[in-house]
Amino acid sequence: MTDIKKVNLLGLSPQKLIEFFESIGEKKFRATQVMKWIHQKGAENFDEMTDVSKALRSKLEKISEIRGPEVVSQNISKDGTRKWIIRTEGGNNDCVETVLIPDGNRATLCVSSQVGCSLDCSFCSTGKQGFNRNLTPAEIIGQVWIAIKSFGPMDPNGPRRVTNVVMMGMGEPLMNFEPVVDSMILMMHDNAYGMSKRRVTLSTSGVVPKIYELIKRTDVSLAISLHAPNDELRDELVPINKRFPIAKLLEACQHYLENLPDKRHITIEYTLMSGVNDNESQAHELAVLLKDLECKINLIPFNPFPNSGYEKPSNNRTRKFQKILADTGYTVTVRTTRGDDIDAACGQLVGDFHDKTRRSQKYIELKEVNS
Ligand code: SAH
Ligand code: SF4
Repeated sequence: MTDIKKVNLLGLSPQKLIEFFESIGEKKFRATQVMKWIHQKGAENFDEMTDVSKALRSKLEKISEIRGPEVVSQNISKDGTRKWIIRTEGGNNDCVETVLIPDGNRATLCVSSQVGCSLDCSFCSTGKQGFNRNLTPAEIIGQVWIAIKSFGPMDPNGPRRVTNVVMMGMGEPLMNFEPVVDSMILMMHDNAYGMSKRRVTLSTSGVVPKIYELIKRTDVSLAISLHAPNDELRDELVPINKRFPIAKLLEACQHYLENLPDKRHITIEYTLMSGVNDNESQAHELAVLLKDLECKINLIPFNPFPNSGYEKPSNNRTRKFQKILADTGYTVTVRTTRGDDIDAACGQLVGDFHDKTRRSQKYIELKEVNS
């Protein structure tokens, strides 16, 4: 008998799950049932699906599977931040990271979309790694699945373990478009994770044509990694700016906002690097640049990594930069570093992780790093 490759139902969008059931001669409503089992109750095998007939369960068993990504390690920081290292399929031992950051009533999951990144921003450790491969939809939505399951059995009526998702882990989400869109649709779908579209955010360094595509497909919130108030500096820090300069990027942002069904803002991310983009005149220049855009600004003090060549600014300088923008009327937040003790801060993802032991067990024991 030839070995057929089973379809992994974990990564199928609602539409693709319907198509799958139709392709095997089953009714549409089966897709809803199975989707709830997988994404709301965390089912890993078909036996658990008690409202699905035995015959269908064994048929599904033969041709499909529910397979989450392989978790290499899970760490919990003193401040509650959780971090997972996930090994992707394909045999290269390629890993990505997922981080969950609790904050009062919120718990924000930072999700990766690629192993490495091709866009080579000068201050980003993922960029330094180069591009390895795209994550599959199951590997992307699987990060949400794993994070929720780490709290125990999934309970659709229990407290929400993940309230927000930001596509700010490794990789450029718009360079892995279809799998990212399918995953975000699942995050917001009522029969899956049911998150608010205001709480699912895609962050991009500015792949302009894909921003126009994105609004045709979904209405997630958008964050733009700007990092510079003019093209001259941005060309240096974010090389994709040479293809899609700031004016074109801001035009795409306006288009995105205008085509959303509700009134929202864009989040502008600005990583502050000492002596590079953090002086007062640059703050003023930024204030002028963004004056016509409905936006909030999030300042991220640079997170150092070995041989980066950049330094983070002093708190004083960061506050000054913030004040100039705030005085001009912007809402400006400063991202505080979380999960320092487990290297979970932005731009520190995976870094120098190598799993030399090639452990094969799926879920390695929960490791309390502070014990
Ligand atoms: N590729 C996407 C999303 C992943 S990066 C993007 O660039 O938007 C998520 C955020 O972390 C981006 O704003 C990125 O510029 C920022 N970042 C990357 N490296 C960093 C570092 N070392 N310190 C602080 N922020 C960093
Ligand atoms: Fe890629 Fe984003 Fe890093 Fe730039 S900042 S290299 S786009 S992951």
